[in-house]
Amino acid sequence: MLVDCGDGISRAILHQNISFNSIDCILISHLHADHYAGLPSLLTQMKLIGRNKVLSVFVHSSEKDFIEDFILHSYLFKERMSFELKVIPFNDEREIKVNENFNFIARLNSHLDKYKKYDTENKLGFASLSFLFKDDENSFIYSGDIGNEKDLYLFNQKVDWFITETTHIKVENLTDIFKKLKPGKLILTHIGEDFEKRLDQYLASLPEHQKSHIILAIDGLKLNRY
Ligand SMILES: [Zn+2]
Repeated sequence: MLVDCGDGISRAILHQNISFNSIDCILISHLHADHYAGLPSLLTQMKLIGRNKVLSVFVHSSEKDFIEDFILHSYLFKERMSFELKVIPFNDEREIKVNENFNFIARLNSHLDKYKKYDTENKLGFASLSFLFKDDENSFIYSGDIGNEKDLYLFNQKVDWFITETTHIKVENLTDIFKKLKPGKLILTHIGEDFEKRLDQYLASLPEHQKSHIILAIDGLKLNRY
């Protein structure tokens, strides 16, 4: 499963030597361009390599029509694709079974709330999602882009991995995450300069065994199963 497909995703996949055919499905967390705008070029790329296995695109039910239009307006016609393209709508708060042993639940967070006042024509869905994923062995939470630190606790449970962005939280919140959720590993993404500086000080104050629970995401980072 590819979670989000922002601008530049095709190039990033090529750069990481990941086979386009290894992607069975795409899950979109919200409609900021850096999370979905690479979809048409990715589909084009998959067509060019002659992909022939089904590709499912999971999208929140409120954004399904837009994503279908986005694909259509990119002149990508399902009939002309070399593979079957399924756009699958899902609702938040419902367990979605991706396959026999892999499922996820999506929960709405507050990331897009600040824009609601601008949508005077009521055209937008404002679905921004955090996810809890589970397979037969591991569980992980991906916060997605969030609005504030409260969104960190939408799923109040212990998981193997907790992945969150850091532009909407403070370094001090990391201590709370460990206290409340006790994740096996905490993986931080979207790290800005200010956060990184304060993170260095924070890490220096932690005992060695706790430090090893925090991972700063880099391009191409691979995580092994527990
Ligand atoms: Zn965003």
